[in-house]
Amino acid sequence: MLKNLTTTSIFTPYCKITLNRQGSDKYTKISFPLKYGIFSEIETSDAILQFNLNHEIIRAKGKDRAWIQPSEWLKRSMGNDWIYYSTGGYTGVFESIGEYYLPNLPYPTNSLIGGKPLNEPSVLKIVRSWYEIIQKSLQSVKELTGNQKRDSSNFIEFLENALINTPENLEKKAKSLFKTSGGRITVMPPDARHVDYDIIPLIISDGCLYKCKFCRVKSDKPFAIREKKEIDEQILRLKDIYKNDIINYNSIFLGDHDALNTANPLNKDNTIIDAANKAYSSFEFNNSYMKGCNLFMFGSVDSFMNANFDLFKSLNSMPYQTYINIGLESADQETLDLIGKPITSKQVEEAFMEMQRLNELFSNIEITANFIMDENLPKGHYPSFLRLVREKILRAKTKGTIYLSPLRINKPSREVLFEFNRLKTLSRLPTFLYIIQRL
Ligand code: SF4
Repeated sequence: MLKNLTTTSIFTPYCKITLNRQGSDKYTKISFPLKYGIFSEIETSDAILQFNLNHEIIRAKGKDRAWIQPSEWLKRSMGNDWIYYSTGGYTGVFESIGEYYLPNLPYPTNSLIGGKPLNEPSVLKIVRSWYEIIQKSLQSVKELTGNQKRDSSNFIEFLENALINTPENLEKKAKSLFKTSGGRITVMPPDARHVDYDIIPLIISDGCLYKCKFCRVKSDKPFAIREKKEIDEQILRLKDIYKNDIINYNSIFLGDHDALNTANPLNKDNTIIDAANKAYSSFEFNNSYMKGCNLFMFGSVDSFMNANFDLFKSLNSMPYQTYINIGLESADQETLDLIGKPITSKQVEEAFMEMQRLNELFSNIEITANFIMDENLPKGHYPSFLRLVREKILRAKTKGTIYLSPLRINKPSREVLFEFNRLKTLSRLPTFLYIIQRL
């Protein structure tokens, strides 16, 4: 499939168009703004637009003086959100989130850092004018090549296809993705940062076990496992949505809020392993342009502790690097009661210790955990957190990431950020902020 994707360029007085540029084939944490996958590009004197293999715009940036920072850019998600990636001047961003670029989101979230770059006139200009840039580019190619259509036919075809993907059609496509999943993905696992949130969502269950009082992303649905047939049909629909661009993907998110609970002893099927295998072959991850492949999912204390050990053995032997994120929230009973999480601090501690054991045992699995942060939590919350991540861990580890999730939405707080830095310094596990991000 890759053989047909030769890189070619054309220059016109208005723009340079490059088809099938080969970006990085490996997700890397680097301060240089690396672009992933195979994509096509339009470059004018004041903008750069990039398109996936379905001719849909995926990234954009301004080149004029008004653009905030030359190494920063906009990314359009499959859910049709424009996200601004900022460097934060490289100070504190990597330490806080484990990535060099901070995603600034167009909806309220729990980020403690970042500003409002999406409201900047230079950013708004690109978001509002990209379609017009494609129209002008098409006109300029036609004017340049006149009747020598043979030399420019592939560029014209690309631009005409890109014009079919109007802002309205991109919105429709996002809606069809939500419909395929049975609703919008309201939260992606924090570990999906390792692939810049480029995941294909495959929903194998709905709802969660606890319906915690504090949680803003929960669904009303009681926990239920989806039928095999429905999962198979979903895979077919996803293949149709991701289409030609599927070769730029190497990761799935098995959703939604507690996919790990499909491995509960009452379910006789191997839902996780079956879905992961089918996704691997149907999405042809062995042919992906991106190296390696990854599986992300959420779990809860109960689903994690009830899961059969064989599940982890099977996951570990699959081609995937698997990340399972467990919501622990607090090791302090008063805090758990306050936030309405119906588990005990003893269960939290047991799950935390089991995480450590499995992370040691399985090289292809990383179990990570979330804890909450807020200025107004009971006094016991942070000491109980440090008892786990410092006193129970004898030496610093590179695996078993802890994500601290501020409770407040749209309330950056210096105090909470200061507290985060203190906890991070004391923790013997990799510790980062969790910015809640939807698809
Ligand atoms: S925190 Fe997790 S378990 Fe609790 S309501 Fe939200 S999704 Fe459900």
